[in-house]
Amino acid sequence: MNYSVLDIFKQGLSGNRGWQPLWRSPAPKPSYDVVIIGGGGHGLATAYYLAKTHGVRNVAVLEKGYIGGGNVGRNTTIVRADYGQKGNSAFYSHSLKLWQGLSQELNFNVMFSPRGLLELCHSDGQMESFSRRANMILARGDAVEMLDRAGVQAYAPFLNFDSERFPIRGGLLQRTAGTARHDAVAWGYARGADRLGVDIVQNCEVTGFDITGGVVRGVETSRGAIKAAKVAICVAGRSSQVAAMAGIWLPIESHVLQAFVTEGLKPFINTVVNFGVGHFYISQSDKGGLVFGGDLDGYNSYAQRGGLGRMEHVAEAGMSMIPALGKARMLRSWGGIMDMSMDGSPIIDKTHIAGLYFNGGWCYGGFKAIPASGSAYAQLLATGATPDYASAYRLSRFETGHLINEEGTGARPGLH
Ligand SMILES: Cc1cc2nc3c(=O)[nH]c(=O)nc-3n(C[C@H](O)[C@H](O)[C@H](O)COP(=O)(O)OP(=O)(O)OC[C@H]3O[C@@H](n4cnc5c(N)ncnc54)[C@H](O)[C@@H]3O)c2cc1C
Repeated sequence: MNYSVLDIFKQGLSGNRGWQPLWRSPAPKPSYDVVIIGGGGHGLATAYYLAKTHGVRNVAVLEKGYIGGGNVGRNTTIVRADYGQKGNSAFYSHSLKLWQGLSQELNFNVMFSPRGLLELCHSDGQMESFSRRANMILARGDAVEMLDRAGVQAYAPFLNFDSERFPIRGGLLQRTAGTARHDAVAWGYARGADRLGVDIVQNCEVTGFDITGGVVRGVETSRGAIKAAKVAICVAGRSSQVAAMAGIWLPIESHVLQAFVTEGLKPFINTVVNFGVGHFYISQSDKGGLVFGGDLDGYNSYAQRGGLGRMEHVAEAGMSMIPALGKARMLRSWGGIMDMSMDGSPIIDKTHIAGLYFNGGWCYGGFKAIPASGSAYAQLLATGATPDYASAYRLSRFETGHLINEEGTGARPGLH
């Protein structure tokens, strides 16, 4: 079923009884050309582009829980391309372009809302370093602008401009950045992949690998063994655990990251604000809730919930920058497991085991990466090489020490 306005009208007349499930629930087949482990945003997007762009349709996505239950449904949905360094810069620039046409591509409304992203500066030094990054972004051909204090006041008047510790000096504004609806991204890619013949198998946990003679032959799962010519790991916060089943040790730590949402309010914050030095960022969802978060909890964990200490820190930082926040009631908080790489940048590569591929290390910025990551990983699986925009994400960088140093925007687990 292709969605259209006419369709909504027709379904409305028939009591909405004709809508189909978004994807089938097939039993896993004994073998596939490609098995993708993990039905998060990256796994589903990879399956979609494998089938759509490369015609590889004998594909299964094996998900141990349900679609949308991982980080793809737990993040704060910020989509941006404000990286300066070679490597990340080209990748996120490409991803943002894919976001712009994603609803049309998938025939599914992912509610991409380019409402802008403002990163606050509080000192001359910070203005200097953000200006440098802004120039790097401009030089690659993307839009970004530096605002002075008056410019920020006009753009986001709800901020506290004279906080004692962090008075606002200016900001970096990317008007093309914004938010999207996280569930819809997972559902849209799942539906798109399913329509092209991909089997999406939920409640199917991969428990081991069948590797003989240095070649992967398939996977062991909670629903039996499945053979595959190629196996693609794509499990975000579980990267280390799943790779360890194949005897691979990754340069990754797992940390918990929390997020918070208030009760629904009238439109109040019309952009995304990042108060980086205070470890606080915020946007307002289409339902009206203020969605905000901060830094990692600061200890390694596989729990999908965080501690009260971080909650207090985030609330304090939020109150200091947006005092009106104190009037809102917090509705919910949750956590997700982040696979933090040592340079805050991801990995999309083959492993030393023939036929076994790895995608992970997305840290706390992997939602915005989903379209570009899916298409790059699909290309790697189909052709053996990643496209240029993802060519920096090789495992070999950890051997040579040529890390993608994204100081100021990337994550640095070594400091946590
Ligand atoms: C609170 C929070 C806020 C965030 N905010 C942002 C943001 O604003 N912008 C941004 O860009 N990013 C953000 N992120 C990061 C982003 O959500 C992640 O980097 C990204 O979603 C990870 O990729 P994924 O969607 O494929 O992961 P997931 O959805 O976690 O997918 C991995 C899947 O693998 C499955 N799996 C694991 N082990 C197995 C197994 N053995 N067998 C089968 N399946 C398995 C899991 O069940 C899971 O569904 C945030 C994350 C959190 C937690």
